[in-house]
Amino acid sequence: MARSSAELDRVWLEQFPEVDILLDSATIQKRVSELAQQIARDYEGTFPLMVGVLKGSVPFLADLMRAVPFRVACDYVAISSYGTETTSSGVVRLLKDLDTEVVGRHVLVVEDILDTGLTLQYLMGLLQERRPFSLKVCALLQKPDRLKAPITLDYCGFSIPNEFVVGYGLDYAEQYRNLPFIGALRADSAED
Ligand code: 5GP
Repeated sequence: MARSSAELDRVWLEQFPEVDILLDSATIQKRVSELAQQIARDYEGTFPLMVGVLKGSVPFLADLMRAVPFRVACDYVAISSYGTETTSSGVVRLLKDLDTEVVGRHVLVVEDILDTGLTLQYLMGLLQERRPFSLKVCALLQKPDRLKAPITLDYCGFSIPNEFVVGYGLDYAEQYRNLPFIGALRADSAED
């Protein structure tokens, strides 16, 4: 018999005892499907372009787009943000641009987490200059206490407290992206 998502989360946790679960995989999947239904209602008949921000948004975008039951396109950007392993400096730079023209398109940016908002402020400005028909943003997580830039999410999965999280695409030193849940690293395992 197939294992439940809770049993699978427990198996993963045995391998990663330094992680405390914040959002388990069932909770994430339920919320992703609610967001997808909202997006499907708003974009039906428009052939939107979903823009994933590498690398953290990959699992989220993969699950989200497969829950939108009509034609969508997807493309990716990569943005570097200088800083330490757990805090960003706010200095951002485009590492990989889109392969797709956005002029006249309905563009939905899909991001893993809105922290200070400086990355999204930079990206939304860049895309807006290219004259999309519409430009919205969906983030799985946001940390409201940390926001510095004037960014409002059009779609938001969860608001979380101000702590460093990993899993479901989010990394610490390129680890933990493949966890099916989102968790917090114990303080002694993620030092600045
Ligand atoms: P912002 O520009 O909004 O401060 O930061 C956005 C980027 O910083 C996110 O796309 C993500 O890559 C990284 N980031 C912010 N908070 C966290 C966190 O709690 N955990 C991880 N793994 N990355 C984070």
